[in-house]
Amino acid sequence: MIKNGFSIKTIEDEKIEGKRVLVRVDFNVSLTDDFTIADDVRIRQAIPTLEYLLKKNNKLILISHLGRPKGRQMHFSLKKVALHLHDLIPQYQVTLVDDFLSESGQKQLANQKEHEIMLLENIRFYPQEKEKSSAFAQKLAQLADMYVNDAFGVCHRSDSSISQIPTFLPSYAGLLLKKEIETISSIVKKVKKPFVAIIGGAKISTKINFLSKLLDVADYVLLGGGLANTFLLTQGLAIGKSLAEKEEADAAKKLLFMAAQKNTAVILPKDAVVGNPSNGKDGGQVVKIEDIPKNASILDIGPQTQAMFSNIISQAKTIIWNGPVGYCENSQFCRGTDFLYYAITQNKNAVSIVGGGDTLATISKKEYLDQITHISTGGGAMLEFIEKGTLPGIEALSQKKS
Ligand code: ADP
Ligand code: MG
Repeated sequence: MIKNGFSIKTIEDEKIEGKRVLVRVDFNVSLTDDFTIADDVRIRQAIPTLEYLLKKNNKLILISHLGRPKGRQMHFSLKKVALHLHDLIPQYQVTLVDDFLSESGQKQLANQKEHEIMLLENIRFYPQEKEKSSAFAQKLAQLADMYVNDAFGVCHRSDSSISQIPTFLPSYAGLLLKKEIETISSIVKKVKKPFVAIIGGAKISTKINFLSKLLDVADYVLLGGGLANTFLLTQGLAIGKSLAEKEEADAAKKLLFMAAQKNTAVILPKDAVVGNPSNGKDGGQVVKIEDIPKNASILDIGPQTQAMFSNIISQAKTIIWNGPVGYCENSQFCRGTDFLYYAITQNKNAVSIVGGGDTLATISKKEYLDQITHISTGGGAMLEFIEKGTLPGIEALSQKKS
């Protein structure tokens, strides 16, 4: 069972041997501009569960999505993921099932061999997935004897393969899901203060609910990235051509007002690096936040902000970080993010949770990863889990038939 009050069975609680097991994994890896795998952490993190089940002679059928395809867009095919998974566990063949609903797909699945893992093609190629279709989940469920959810990063969604399959099959949490739930819930249960949250990334619309909840628990909320720009706008600052969500300006203003009432310090950048996102050579220009030129875009936090944020981070006892504070697709504009990463890893007195697809892609090859208490595969899922204490995908497992 999962600790901390969750009535969920894991794959270790049941004798699962010689079965056909449907495993929902999160192979939603971050992709490069030409749609190759930029970072494989999410694939590697799923391997312990896969190996655990494979050693017990189970036949695995894997379900995952990749990106946000509109229909069958082949650049979002899981083909490259299938090849990469095979590289990671070469003793197993990995077969991509192009369409499990078709006759040939059904035949492929019926003929699954020993040492063969079936990976169903991007589940978001089927509109039913996002429609939370029960009939679609039933078709998936018919492929197997049991269901395992190891896709923490998608558990904040009610998608068919997450929330509906458990109504048809005995369902269990995988090892990664168990680790995510137990670690994050135990850190959040007894937060050691000062609690510092660093929130970056592109947009506030996806994170605004979490930000309001954070005000109740955090002592400092450090904002960077595109997300901070909307807050700068509400302060009456000109941000040139920087990314911002004008429609969220009111919500941002309200949040700053609430923060003042709750005595939580929400801290915005004091300086920025402006430049051209596609210019690889010139690292941009440092300007004070009041002096953003009309035609410029904010692409990173500046050195003064780096110093101010790291100083606060160095005094934290609990740290949560999601979202790069700059346009990290271009390494010239990832210096602020790198700086904060090192500040987090150098604070030996704090427990830290870091998560998010793009966040992981920026840090996954760095030194000192072991200095982070928990690296979460979830971005949105991690934030929502901290906010609500549970997620639709977790609830679906609690109501399972087993
Ligand atoms: P995660 O996947 O870790 O949850 P997000 O998806 O929220 O993170 O945000 C990552 C994205 O935010 C990246 O694509 C990055 O380029 C973008 N971003 C961060 N800062 C800026 C900025 N100043 N301007 C434009 N985009 C930014
Ligand atoms: Mg992202």
